[in-house]
Amino acid sequence: MVESLLNAPSSIGLIFRALAFAAEKHRNQRRMDAEKTPYINHPVALVDVLVNEGGVTNTETLCAALLHDTLEDTETTAEELRRHFGATVTRLVQEVSDDKNLCWRERKRLQVERAPHASPPAQRIKLADKICNLRDLVAAPPPAWLPERRREYFEWANAVVDTIRAANSTLAERFDHIYAQRLRPDLGYAAKED
Ligand code: ZN
Repeated sequence: MVESLLNAPSSIGLIFRALAFAAEKHRNQRRMDAEKTPYINHPVALVDVLVNEGGVTNTETLCAALLHDTLEDTETTAEELRRHFGATVTRLVQEVSDDKNLCWRERKRLQVERAPHASPPAQRIKLADKICNLRDLVAAPPPAWLPERRREYFEWANAVVDTIRAANSTLAERFDHIYAQRLRPDLGYAAKED
């Protein structure tokens, strides 16, 4: 009885399983802000944005959002994800993962190139990811990031989002709102006058 429940969890069961799995995998990681926020806050923020701002309620999408950095930033394998969460969730996580064998610049370039060909659920996860990252950048920028690098990140995020806006117009608007913050003089992101 218990085993069959575990084999076919409810939606809420699967979502919490993904949350517990991601929390365990990211347990020793911190974000780059000055306070070194626990890493898991980021995937949780993504799901919050997807559900409460984007109206996304699809279980696989929410699970993949919670797991979206496990392949890229932890030792987790695709096989492991498949075993715990099935093929659909695993494919979504793969779609939003960069190939860490490539250099930073090439990974960024490929995101712009590949985003329009990703599935709509993967595009929605990407939209939420870019919203959360820009919000973090405005609220608590990594001390090591100079204004130039922050500016570059804003522009790159916008280039990715430009290709996937149709996946969720509300999320695209939320992105525009945070992207507009780059012009706030106190952030020092505005282009130098030279
Ligand atoms: Zn992320």
